[in-house]
Amino acid sequence: MSFTFHIFNHNEPTHADEGEEPVMSQSKILVIEDEFDIAQLLKIHLSELCDQVQLVHDGEQGLNLALQQTWSAIILDLKLPKVDGLEICRRIRGQSDYVPILMLTAKSTELDRVLGLELGADDYLTKPFSVMELTARVKALLRRFDASQGYQKNQQEVNLNYAGLEVLTDQRTVKIDGKEVELTAKEFDLLHFFASNPDKVFNRTQLLDQVWGYGHDGYEHTVNSHMNRLRTKIEPNSNEPKYIKTVWGVGYKFIG
Ligand code: CA
Repeated sequence: MSFTFHIFNHNEPTHADEGEEPVMSQSKILVIEDEFDIAQLLKIHLSELCDQVQLVHDGEQGLNLALQQTWSAIILDLKLPKVDGLEICRRIRGQSDYVPILMLTAKSTELDRVLGLELGADDYLTKPFSVMELTARVKALLRRFDASQGYQKNQQEVNLNYAGLEVLTDQRTVKIDGKEVELTAKEFDLLHFFASNPDKVFNRTQLLDQVWGYGHDGYEHTVNSHMNRLRTKIEPNSNEPKYIKTVWGVGYKFIG
């Protein structure tokens, strides 16, 4: 534990709380923050929570790195040169893979808060923030990321076969009438979950919990958009789905 850590950290115990789950072993956090002092401070403290902290000081570079690599969490300043934090958040959420995002804002106006969360940030912190608050929030985000990864580890390694649809679990491949279909990681997870639970109805919150690995009632549109894309890829006619039916007012079910 460094000397610097103690300076900013009077109230925090020096060890993780008893009984707390250890944070994932290979974790990478991306920090997109144009104020060098704050970025350095974040790096010092986040290094205690994960294996690697990458600092970026402008929005353009930050956006590129956010999209190109897999991150356990992204700390995103709202006001950034070149591309601002809201646009970066929007672009990250347009991707299929889930990554937890913590927004940093200079002022705590409701507008900032609402905009940030509506665009899909998981949490936000208002500057100036205490290190204790920062580490608590980031630990929560890393646990959320772990949970989203956990679903994949727990999948049964079996192949599923239904009227023309094959889900090859170990290869993470899907075939329709023998022809391979290109799915994103999350589309595959979603289809695999349905195919593993035929004839059961799931609502969007349940799908978020099971497939994305975190419960958040604010992101039901995430399920809808993934479902639409999945259907265009696997259904012969996505207006009259053959495999995943809509159960109106409830959710979806897979027809085995
Ligand atoms: Ca800034």
